[in-house]
Amino acid sequence: MSRVILAYIENNGVEVPKGSLSTIQAALLLKKAHNYSGLVGLLLGGDGTEEAAKKVAAFGLDEVLYVKNNLLKTYLATNYALAFKKVLETLAPTVVLALADTRGRDLMPRISQHLDAGQASDVIEFVDGGRFKRPMYAGNVLATVEITTARKVVTVRQSAFDVAKSGASECPIRELSIDISADSGMEFLSFDTVKSARPQLVEADRIVSGGVSLKSKENFEKYIVALADVLGAAVGASRAAVDAEYAPNDWQVGQTGKIVAPKLYIAVGISGAIQHIAGMKSSKTIVAINKDPEAPIFDVADYGLVADLYQAVPELISVLTASKS
Ligand SMILES: Cc1cc2nc3c(=O)[nH]c(=O)nc-3n(C[C@H](O)[C@H](O)[C@H](O)COP(=O)(O)OP(=O)(O)OC[C@H]3O[C@@H](n4cnc5c(N)ncnc54)[C@H](O)[C@@H]3O)c2cc1C
Repeated sequence: MSRVILAYIENNGVEVPKGSLSTIQAALLLKKAHNYSGLVGLLLGGDGTEEAAKKVAAFGLDEVLYVKNNLLKTYLATNYALAFKKVLETLAPTVVLALADTRGRDLMPRISQHLDAGQASDVIEFVDGGRFKRPMYAGNVLATVEITTARKVVTVRQSAFDVAKSGASECPIRELSIDISADSGMEFLSFDTVKSARPQLVEADRIVSGGVSLKSKENFEKYIVALADVLGAAVGASRAAVDAEYAPNDWQVGQTGKIVAPKLYIAVGISGAIQHIAGMKSSKTIVAINKDPEAPIFDVADYGLVADLYQAVPELISVLTASKS
């Protein structure tokens, strides 16, 4: 078996999200460090997949394959798994690599089961061709896991890898025409997206997050969202703030929310429970505002302000607004 890596590259029919560029970067690192003979990218989707495939041709991959099919226009695990399995009939990669996001978590176990392959999830570092580092127990333990099967499935954590840079010479792009049946037992009904001009939480350079100390949805808007707006930042929240319905579910940062690693993370009125820290501790600069000097968030903060948020945040907003104008 030739030692080839197959990297699954997500696309939305128009572009390739930042997370997929981290997938490519991780695959390039794995190939280089552990002497894999080839790196093939795979895109699945409906109209626009070919254009998305062209966009990744100059990132250093050896070949880009894409499957365009109306049944893949929107993501359904069963149809995607079916298409993936058909692709694997023509290709025998040693490693299948994908992003450890919602889709990767949904799709890749189906692929490992199909290949009878061991899977390492949420990998942050490649130790060698078969051993991988991954965080466990809310990031309190770094485990080295070994996949002992000949074929391996790996999902990588976006925040642990830079985005790949284009600039290499363009690799060949090939369409695979495969037949997938519509009878997958699942039918796509609708997809409701939240439209926002704000940067995506996992892709943002700056994040302002609020805790349950905001006491209401209105306060969350007035203090956290307003501060984020001045900074052009995405908005995050602790789970307690989400549970209290001050912030929507997809803003939650932490072990059971989003894992983020922005350049700047401002935690406002957040205690710093381990489950929250697990989701943001890789941020480059962490600023914490909390009225309790003993709050654990200060243990991970680069800059800490012991203050009442209701006083400090409006002051910060007015200073930042003034400095902008
Ligand atoms: C299995 C599991 C998974 C979990 N996953 C997550 C997760 O993904 N993300 C997550 O966030 N949590 C998660 N949690 C919950 C986590 O344990 C904490 O309960 C939660 O993070 C606390 O949120 P908080 O900091 O907003 O609230 P609190 O812990 O109540 O802290 C509020 C903080 O606000 C400060 N404060 C109060 N008033 C003011 C003021 N006026 N000015 C300044 N500071 C003020 C207080 O000093 C305090 O430090 C999980 C828990 C479990 C068991």
